[in-house]
Amino acid sequence: MATEWFLEVKMKQTYSFDDVLLEPQYSDINSRSEVNTDSNLGSYNFTLPVISSPMDTVTEERMVNAMSDAGGLGIVHRYNTINEQAKIVGYARLAGCKNIGAAIGVTGDYMKRAQRVTDVGANILCVDVAHGHHSMMQQALGELKDNFGDSVHIMAGNVATLEAFEALSEWGADSIRVGIGGGSICSTRIVTGHGVPTFQSILECAQTSHDTKIIADGGIKTSGDIVKALAAGADFVMVGSMLAGSSETPGGLRTDEHGNKCKEYRGMASKEAQREWRGQSSTAEGVSTVVPFKGPTANILKDISGGVRSGLSYTGARTIKELQARAKFILQSSAAQLESGTHILWRK
Ligand code: IMP
Repeated sequence: MATEWFLEVKMKQTYSFDDVLLEPQYSDINSRSEVNTDSNLGSYNFTLPVISSPMDTVTEERMVNAMSDAGGLGIVHRYNTINEQAKIVGYARLAGCKNIGAAIGVTGDYMKRAQRVTDVGANILCVDVAHGHHSMMQQALGELKDNFGDSVHIMAGNVATLEAFEALSEWGADSIRVGIGGGSICSTRIVTGHGVPTFQSILECAQTSHDTKIIADGGIKTSGDIVKALAAGADFVMVGSMLAGSSETPGGLRTDEHGNKCKEYRGMASKEAQREWRGQSSTAEGVSTVVPFKGPTANILKDISGGVRSGLSYTGARTIKELQARAKFILQSSAAQLESGTHILWRK
């Protein structure tokens, strides 16, 4: 019976970043400087459509500053006391950052946190939960809208489906983080069996009837993935691992057993993060690791910006909107996936 059911059921085919490529198209763009990567969160404008993840090994004041300098956005994580988070936001505002994001949850003193961080200068609140298509999100968005109206931009997430995207839009979200289970340090799909490839989620959420902004989040490894995410309909990407290990991430440098410099990068639902912030851990949905030290964030963002601009020019697009209108995706076979990576044989 179970087998018959299984054979009859029509399962949806889904795709991930590495399953697809963008077909190069006629271009009359002579230089990367002709390409414009502007994007916006309502009235807040950015020249680089990249947001740093609200994680305790990614975004505190130094990352907010580095993101702001490069034209992007940093979102201060919420795994701290309200005072600590307010202090970080305050520093970033002193340092002169125009746009500052701050994460909050949906339980406990989240409204107090929201009030405090906005009082000290955050203008973007990120309602940060693993499964955003949830009654608690609906309630939190309602309260936030009642209290703040349109004075603060409200980002919410995460979601994986169009149905969830529409729901959060109706509940009051101004932008939505799209992607469940795709993060480099995420074990949600292994632990729970749930998730949707992030690229697929973006494609589907881009069908929305709302003008809520789409933030592709989780599993973005390269500037090529960023171009694919934008072409599929994202307004921004959110990245953790691409920035992890840089000078501006919180936490000190370590030296591994081979003498290489490295820094910690961990999922916020990892046992290690839970123990530190809650004093105890339950079932983990993330892992903790160390990554090589990468030096200044500014250099990483410069490479990203160059790669994205080059990406737009291969489609003959001068803006993200043009990229979305012109993009032609193709599926690639597993042999093509191998060819798409560097595959020179090394000689010692
Ligand atoms: P990355 O850019 O692939 O490293 O993914 C970063 C994203 O992973 C973050 O923006 C979050 O959406 C997500 N994330 C952070 N911590 C965890 C976790 O512990 N489990 C699952 N997802 C996580």
